[in-house]
Amino acid sequence: MGASAGRQPAFGGRTPAARATFLTFLLRSYNCRDIPSREQLLARREQLLASLPPLGDVVRGSFFVRRLRCGKSDRCRCGRGLLHRAAYLSVTFKGGATEQISVPRRLESVARAWVRNYARWWQAIEQVSAVNRELLRRRLVEPDR
Ligand SMILES: [Zn+2]
Repeated sequence: MGASAGRQPAFGGRTPAARATFLTFLLRSYNCRDIPSREQLLARREQLLASLPPLGDVVRGSFFVRRLRCGKSDRCRCGRGLLHRAAYLSVTFKGGATEQISVPRRLESVARAWVRNYARWWQAIEQVSAVNRELLRRRLVEPDR
């Protein structure tokens, strides 16, 4: 094994198994038995890029909802078990620090969409990388001018 042993790329890795998985993925997306052509690879790349939401509409973190009691639970409905609902965006930074932002009900759909978009961008980056590895491997690209 090479220097990359132990790492597990999402697509088209260096191991025969990973490469076979990547090729299967490409072949399935073109519904043909041939190795994808340069044009098919470029088309796949364009298709991935065209399907992405705006890069401005992303946020790293996870969205979650908590049920809790407030400070006046002796006088409040939460004291009788009808807990309050509170939504948060939680982000962890390098070093382990975490930031939690309270998200009001009217912005929950925005926060959820931005979290989802963030994941979609990363998936697309992985998939474009897989296509680009194949382009490089088969010398199907030219240097920039
Ligand atoms: Zn309460």
